[in-house]
Amino acid sequence: MSQPPTEFGPLTYKPRGYGYSEKGSALEIFEPISETAKFLIMGSIHGDESLSTVLLSECLRSIQPDELQSAVILAANPDGVLAGTRCNSRGVDLNRNYPTENWSPDPVYYRNRPGNPQNIALSPGDAGGSEAETKALIELIQYLKPRLVVSIHGYLGCIDDPDASPIAQDIAFRSSMEIVPDVGYATPGSFGSWCKEQDTPIITYELPSMGVTELKQVHIPILKDLITGHYHKLLI
Ligand SMILES: [Zn+2]
Repeated sequence: MSQPPTEFGPLTYKPRGYGYSEKGSALEIFEPISETAKFLIMGSIHGDESLSTVLLSECLRSIQPDELQSAVILAANPDGVLAGTRCNSRGVDLNRNYPTENWSPDPVYYRNRPGNPQNIALSPGDAGGSEAETKALIELIQYLKPRLVVSIHGYLGCIDDPDASPIAQDIAFRSSMEIVPDVGYATPGSFGSWCKEQDTPIITYELPSMGVTELKQVHIPILKDLITGHYHKLLI
């Protein structure tokens, strides 16, 4: 195992812009220097799940630039991260804004703590694909054509992969989490549904609710393996 580079503190990688959010924030992706990325690993499509951003950032900062083999988006919803909200700056749940067959104009409801009622309403947008963040990510994925997308969320503590792929099984084993075929409630217009309709395999990686130190201990090694190509050998 190589030592963290001296740049462990600041993020020295140069991202590429792939668009702008509704509020004008840069949407950024980190890509391998020489390889074409097989995986796209992304955090914070929900801005209030920004530990995904913190963990991915630490992974990026703890490897040498030439070890990066996957495309990485630290925050697919940067304005949500800055505001601490699940939604983007227009009040839209970006993970219900994809132009899927099941997209619905009805408000979507979420709970902010386990055990609380699922009664906080957000908009799914004016139409599937209405938001700038959604349009940009769709274009990006159609360009990158990743063999696997891993979208990191929190804090249900499970690995959502209806195919129970070998990679999902390994992540579940290493993290002592269960593989589930869905998150247990309808998610019309979700990014995952859209990926499936595009025949792009997707794993929804729901971080568990636990202390940050333990979360880093368990999940940073797995996420590092996802961004450095360790898992390429388990691609079907
Ligand atoms: Zn989420």
